[in-house]
Amino acid sequence: MTLAVPSPAPLAALIADLGDIPVITEEKVVRKRSRDFFWYSPILNEELAKKSADIIALPRNEADVIAIASACAKHRIPLTPRGGATGNYGQAVPIHGGVLLDMNALDTLEWVRPGACRVGAGANMGKLDTELRAQGWELRMHPSTKRTATIGGFVAGGSGGVGSVMYGGLREPGNILAARVITVEETPVVIELRGDAAQKVNRAYGTTGIITALEMPLAPAYPWLDVIVAFDDFKTCLEAGRDVARADGVIKKLLTPIASPLPEYFGQLRQFCPDGKAILAAMVSEASFETFADLVAGRGIITLKTPTREEAGAVPLYEYAWNHTTLQMLKVDRSVTYLQCLYPFDRLIESILETAALFPDELIPHCEFIRFGGNVTCSALPVIRYTTKERLYEIIDAHEARGVFIANPHVITLEEGSRHKRADADQIGFKAIVDPHGLLNPGKMRTYVPVTP
Ligand SMILES: Cc1cc2nc3c(=O)[nH]c(=O)nc-3n(C[C@H](O)[C@H](O)[C@H](O)COP(=O)(O)OP(=O)(O)OC[C@H]3O[C@@H](n4cnc5c(N)ncnc54)[C@H](O)[C@@H]3O)c2cc1C
Repeated sequence: MTLAVPSPAPLAALIADLGDIPVITEEKVVRKRSRDFFWYSPILNEELAKKSADIIALPRNEADVIAIASACAKHRIPLTPRGGATGNYGQAVPIHGGVLLDMNALDTLEWVRPGACRVGAGANMGKLDTELRAQGWELRMHPSTKRTATIGGFVAGGSGGVGSVMYGGLREPGNILAARVITVEETPVVIELRGDAAQKVNRAYGTTGIITALEMPLAPAYPWLDVIVAFDDFKTCLEAGRDVARADGVIKKLLTPIASPLPEYFGQLRQFCPDGKAILAAMVSEASFETFADLVAGRGIITLKTPTREEAGAVPLYEYAWNHTTLQMLKVDRSVTYLQCLYPFDRLIESILETAALFPDELIPHCEFIRFGGNVTCSALPVIRYTTKERLYEIIDAHEARGVFIANPHVITLEEGSRHKRADADQIGFKAIVDPHGLLNPGKMRTYVPVTP
């Protein structure tokens, strides 16, 4: 898609149209906030390092969002929503410049009812969960970046995480109840998407409307324990994890098998990760611990059991899981990168071990048990020792040839980054309604052709 890079004249006109809505124009700040965690990928790091918005707009409420959307449509200036900027695919990086829309001030918790809440899209997930827990509820799932990410960024950019072992990912029916969305037109429209329709904004990288509020389902708030179990070998670790994952009576939030030597990079937790052992990092409810311990008994040794602590200064175990596992190694060794895999549930352990065995010197297995379409399976973020782009794609091809889905984290488009390699038909159709000029995060939904350029 070709989009005119905004020249200084329309930008000045846009800023004038925004009136008293706060904006940041200082180049250094704008460049810094235009980044996310794309640097995990050496390929994206090269592609995106120099990309930046021209200005940042800071809406204070939904009326400001509407005014900004209208001004961008009028001046045909690209608009990229931003939450906590923890995405990994350069999702929140404005590759065609324009306005970076900082959604963080839209953080009002509108209501909490038994099993559901409605909240502003810019709400920080950590603060939100703390507020919910005070009322006896908690989010069903959150990314391991909970303490930085926003709920809107999670729905628009994420897939699942801590909690998905009980509830599946965001795509499972019932995991997003409703989304309120603003269109990018001269006269923006407010659309309430309910039920399945809310999936039109899920993992669309903010290309299918600006989310201002979300209705999310909740789980009862449990007292959680952080637990580490060490195993002599990764296969036994996987088998124990699978047995706990399948035990529906055990309330858990995290079941993360990690192969050696990854746990040896685990900073503050290193003392609980014996040399050469695989570990199962788990969050289980206090009441389920005894059953959990029975299920792993005779196979591994419990090296850590402590209440989950999330206050400032504490490091919860989930910050060693999901894509934080990769981060622990990247802190020490910047030559590694990662993949995102989904294994077939019907030959799960064989499939994980088979693909790992193909690349003994290049791939370190790290899996996450999840529920997917009613079955227990593993999502995985193996760490890869990076040599060349060609070799990385050989590793991806070898996985796909064996029935392992890859959501490629080394590309910026949502098509290539999806396991189906295409945009969801509902999302691409909806985009024509909400973003006729193709101004929302342009370049990320590759297959969309603007209705009115
Ligand atoms: C260490 C690490 C661990 C991670 N672990 C997980 C994990 O466990 N599970 C997981 O799913 N992901 C994970 N991620 C990826 C990322 O953290 C999550 O997707 C996170 O939820 C993004 O939230 P955010 O507020 O930072 O969004 P951002 O990065 O700011 O934005 C993500 C996308 O959403 C769009 N967006 C943001 N707000 C809005 C809005 N209001 N309306 C429309 N579009 C919007 C942006 O344009 C962008 O395309 C991880 C990343 C890192 C670096």
